[in-house]
Amino acid sequence: MRKPIIAGNWKMNKTRDEALQFIYAVNQAVPSIEEVDTVICGQSVLLRCLVKRQGDNLRIGAQNMHYEEKGAFTGEVSPLILNDTGVNYVIIGHSERREYFNETDEMVNKKVHSAFKYDLTPIVCVGEKLEQRENNTTNQVVEAQISKALAGLTEAQAKEVVIAYEPIWAIGTGKTATSEMANETCGYIRSVVSKIFGKNVGEAVRIQYGGSVKPSNIKELMAQEHIDGALIGGASLEIEAFIEMTNFNK
Ligand code: PGA
Repeated sequence: MRKPIIAGNWKMNKTRDEALQFIYAVNQAVPSIEEVDTVICGQSVLLRCLVKRQGDNLRIGAQNMHYEEKGAFTGEVSPLILNDTGVNYVIIGHSERREYFNETDEMVNKKVHSAFKYDLTPIVCVGEKLEQRENNTTNQVVEAQISKALAGLTEAQAKEVVIAYEPIWAIGTGKTATSEMANETCGYIRSVVSKIFGKNVGEAVRIQYGGSVKPSNIKELMAQEHIDGALIGGASLEIEAFIEMTNFNK
């Protein structure tokens, strides 16, 4: 059985005070890590502060990183430093990074390899644009993204990757893919992983849905066969909403 993974992506939000208030409030209220992996991905300057205060059932993630360990890359964050900071997860290839910061599938692939090198679990984002959904090319788009992102991984690594399927048209727009639609594409992604790495890996890999997930729709999404978790933006900023969503199965 695949353990659910609920991750909040705070994006460029929350001051240090707000972040601390949040973490103290949720530490005791999130489910046991034996049942659900709960992750908060904050801004990089706050990661150390979050790691120091994370409770037993919470893990901290970064929202991006460079693939090189060190060097002349002004303004970038090193995977070595993330590891050193005690971070466990890193979001890679979020559509906002791809769109506003020109991240390519090749960079995503390098970052995924680098994440494993530094003991960080990558949450790899894929998803189609509205016109691709309308042209019925969603499957081709996500297949190309997945096969490039995961190229060269070992089977053991591929099993550990978390994939976040986020249709771009559903991010921050209030439009959620229907749970059937989300499940269908997550199932397709699983079949692509099985085709590349074998059925064992396909069955083991965890696939999140992301895009306007909120307390009112998480249960239905999580009830779908191929949806193992959620990557949550806007609704993860609110303490009560986040607690409710991590306890989706109660
Ligand atoms: P949203 O963002 O929940 O605000 O739609 C999801 C994401 O970008 O990961």
